[in-house]
Amino acid sequence: MAVKHLGDPQPEDAGTAPHAGISRRRFVLGSAAGAAALVPPLRPVRRCDLDAAPVGGTADVIVVGAGLAGLSAAYEIERAGRSAIVLEARNRVGGRTVNHDLGDGKVTEVGGTFVGPTQDRLMALATELGIGTFKSWDIGESVSFLRGVRGTYTSGDPVTFLSVPGGQDLVKAIGLLDGMAKKVPTSSPWTAPDAEDWDSQTFNTWKLANFAGAEGRLALDVISEQVWGAEPRDMSLLYAAWYVAQAGNEDTPGSLLRLITTTDGAQDSRFLGGSQRISIEMARRLGGSVVLGAPARRIAQEHGRVSVDTDRGRFVGRHVIVAMPPAMAGLLRYEPALPALRMQLTQRFPSGSYAKVEAVYDRPFWRDAGLTGQAFGDQVVGATFDQTPPDGSPGVLIGFIGGQHARAWDTLDLAGRRQATLDAFAAYFGDEAADPREYIEGRWTNDLWSRGDPVGFAPPGVLTGFGTALRAPIGRIHWAGTETAEYWIGYMEGAVRSGQRAAAEVLGELS
Ligand SMILES: Cc1cc2nc3c(=O)[nH]c(=O)nc-3n(C[C@H](O)[C@H](O)[C@H](O)COP(=O)(O)OP(=O)(O)OC[C@H]3O[C@@H](n4cnc5c(N)ncnc54)[C@H](O)[C@@H]3O)c2cc1C
Repeated sequence: MAVKHLGDPQPEDAGTAPHAGISRRRFVLGSAAGAAALVPPLRPVRRCDLDAAPVGGTADVIVVGAGLAGLSAAYEIERAGRSAIVLEARNRVGGRTVNHDLGDGKVTEVGGTFVGPTQDRLMALATELGIGTFKSWDIGESVSFLRGVRGTYTSGDPVTFLSVPGGQDLVKAIGLLDGMAKKVPTSSPWTAPDAEDWDSQTFNTWKLANFAGAEGRLALDVISEQVWGAEPRDMSLLYAAWYVAQAGNEDTPGSLLRLITTTDGAQDSRFLGGSQRISIEMARRLGGSVVLGAPARRIAQEHGRVSVDTDRGRFVGRHVIVAMPPAMAGLLRYEPALPALRMQLTQRFPSGSYAKVEAVYDRPFWRDAGLTGQAFGDQVVGATFDQTPPDGSPGVLIGFIGGQHARAWDTLDLAGRRQATLDAFAAYFGDEAADPREYIEGRWTNDLWSRGDPVGFAPPGVLTGFGTALRAPIGRIHWAGTETAEYWIGYMEGAVRSGQRAAAEVLGELS
């Protein structure tokens, strides 16, 4: 059985995931797909030879980070006729999205994967880039396994939650949180009427006050670990309500149910060829203006310009967009120093503790038993999904390990991590799950260029005390990254929205 572990601590330029090579063949295929009139033309991505002499350059806008946020920003800037250079620390684009090759032209994603209703900007972008979607497998029953009791439910039907342990409280929590979310402005949660009260308590304080049953409390712990990679005690109640409020769009209020469900929810669909394709296709169109293997170290605003010093030389622009999680942005050196509110925000907005684990089988055997491959429980792996390629082969079961489980699991050696993962898969789906032909893990918390995932979260006091600094530009420095979004923070949609918003800010200044 092959073992892949993608998150071991890495040298700075190695990245943690399979490099997405951009071959000549793909380049030609991309040409045909990108015929839309306003789409920037295709150009080859600058693949840095790390032994080569440093590079440098000038453009209207320097973008730091070639995840979906940074690439979306550069794509909009070039579309508007301005120039952009994107600087990326890793030797690949896509950031928290990365494809893993399964052979035979098939892939599985080790980071962000699913897309669903109200994630309109991401869908529009993918369509423009010629990337289609297919429905996630959601046929049959899903498994619940809390405190040793196994049950089944239907993913999108809260009525069926009522019969599984903790399910009644989960339905109650959805009602309460959705109601609270309606009072939270998505662009400025710190202005919510109850902001001070909710930001003065943890999600755990609220959980203990509203839910007496052990199963219900445990179910909320699992939700918190799965959605944020954090324990309820780590996180502000205002942040939780804001996150729920954001799980919608300008016309559709956010809902916790949308966050956790598959059909019609955040896990509704997947991208053909894998989600990293979106970044790869944007990078192709940006061509030589994407510089890989170029970690930014210092950003200086001087003489009406911004210069970004990297391991690949100095890049100078009229504006810079920093497109990464707040905690990562805080690692850069800024001259002059940033205002205290912004510097302190980056010290107070940690990324979650999280891992994505995957087992590959000859076939998705759980489907034969009428199961969706989705499970929810108090095992090390708190939730699973079927991530099998669209033609049904091989079978790919993925799971997420979050919060305190991730912290403990991560201390194990590879054999221990694999065993703990497969034990959990077997608890949900039986012994067949214990014997995959390949095991893959994405230990993003160990990754030098992410240092946590899937999202940065706010402990108590941060949104009300420092939230205004989350996306406010500082001189010629603008902020992007999913954490700065107004809808779908923590998701690919939020990343795209944030990049487009930062691009609009800069274009407004340049005009
Ligand atoms: C395991 C996992 C599962 C997920 N599942 C889903 C899902 O199913 N659906 C969904 O919508 N979302 C999901 N997400 C979240 C989604 O992947 C992210 O929200 C999104 O990709 C974030 O994009 P971004 O551009 O904001 O940040 P990032 O992707 O983190 O991009 C930041 C970039 O900055 C680079 N960088 C960092 N420091 C420097 C530096 N000093 N200099 C230069 N570059 C630097 C990084 O290498 C990175 O490429 C998941 C995430 C993870 C990790």
